[in-house]
Amino acid sequence: MDFNLNDEQKQYLETVRRFVGREIIPCSMALEKTHAFPFEIIRKAWDLGITNLSIPQAVKGYSLDLVSTALIIRELSYGDSGIATSAMCNDLANAVIGMHGTDLQQQTFLTPFVERPLLASFCLTEPNAGSDNSAMATLIRKGEKGKYLLNGTKCFITNASFASQFTVFCKVGKPSSPFIACVVVPALAMEPVMTGAGSSACREIPLPGGGRIVTGKPEDKLGQRLSNTASVSFEDVVIEDDQVIGDRRLGFQYLTDVLDYARPMVAAIGVGIARRALDLTLAYTRERRQFGQRICDMPVARESLVAMWKKIETAEMALMKASFLVQEGTPDRGVYASLAKNLAAEAAIFCTTEGLHLHGGYGFIGEYEISKLLRDAQIIDIYEGVREIQNMIVGRELV
Ligand SMILES: Cc1cc2nc3c(=O)[nH]c(=O)nc-3n(C[C@H](O)[C@H](O)[C@H](O)COP(=O)(O)OP(=O)(O)OC[C@H]3O[C@@H](n4cnc5c(N)ncnc54)[C@H](O)[C@@H]3O)c2cc1C
Repeated sequence: MDFNLNDEQKQYLETVRRFVGREIIPCSMALEKTHAFPFEIIRKAWDLGITNLSIPQAVKGYSLDLVSTALIIRELSYGDSGIATSAMCNDLANAVIGMHGTDLQQQTFLTPFVERPLLASFCLTEPNAGSDNSAMATLIRKGEKGKYLLNGTKCFITNASFASQFTVFCKVGKPSSPFIACVVVPALAMEPVMTGAGSSACREIPLPGGGRIVTGKPEDKLGQRLSNTASVSFEDVVIEDDQVIGDRRLGFQYLTDVLDYARPMVAAIGVGIARRALDLTLAYTRERRQFGQRICDMPVARESLVAMWKKIETAEMALMKASFLVQEGTPDRGVYASLAKNLAAEAAIFCTTEGLHLHGGYGFIGEYEISKLLRDAQIIDIYEGVREIQNMIVGRELV
């Protein structure tokens, strides 16, 4: 494994850093206060070519390698991890189509994302099936006309209020079925304006093929307020055969493939948050003086800064190794994807907590970005599998 970045990767990094410095950092604090959806920023990121990174070249996508993808997501998250989550979610939803869809399915379902700045949702979690996704109740069952009908409710779905397409994991036939299918449901595209949460209320989408989708009110979240999260219900949605990805009994395997791909991306979000927390804390403790000296020169404070740096570097190494192994498709890739996710969550939570502490009382005040980062960091330990699930995956391999 080579730790040197190639010229293309260096160029990507430069481009994303400039974008983040110009388009995200100056406005993320103000935007997140209003819980506004940053569609203009996402549109500009799309224009720049730093979203939809997993789409195959066959449909004019970038088909970017995972190390480069991780670098881009890390840098976007340095600016705002909610924006990075929303952008990354397109790949979460679309990767399975690129991996297991037919040529025609790739043309049909992925081309719109290359042509326009659209959003996609990845629908797995349900009210009674979180970590244990085998307990999901959403299902496809043959209706009277011999076609599959999709019914069920998913919760905590990123981009749901604005998505033009939903990738849905569901049971086949009955909730107790051992088979999980992956189906794609295109819906009307909605291009929201940047006017705050109120503009993105529930939406009902009647589908031309039959049935409807209903999205719930956007969730009022602790952190990552620049991403959109809502429930999605599928009511008698007609599913044609060509909307089923791959074999309708192999959805669980496809899900594992997607999560192996996606966990390093969540790790990249965590590393981006942690690095931003360290940089802000370094800047603050270099300025702030107490007892006649800079806080960063006090031995105990410096030890905290070093501890933050060590967490970030460790998580970053795990992120790069996981990205590399997933890209190579090695048999142990899942274990390293879980390791990277856990270490990055630990780094994000540790660095934002220590960083806030080193800001003293000011860290507790809303106008200081470190308080936002501390709120944002919590979700890294939860979405795409809580810490205990990652440990379960690692433990299973170990023994
Ligand atoms: C902002 C946000 C965005 C999200 N985006 C998406 C999305 O786009 N698509 C999607 O499908 N889902 C999404 N999710 C859902 C997310 O992936 C789930 O919340 C997560 O997988 C955990 O499921 P749960 O919330 O039901 O927690 P539960 O499974 O109920 O777990 C609660 C706690 O129980 C403990 N626990 C659970 N299982 C075990 C175990 N086996 N061993 C030991 N302890 C255990 C852990 O401490 C865990 O934190 C999102 C969630 C949020 C908050």
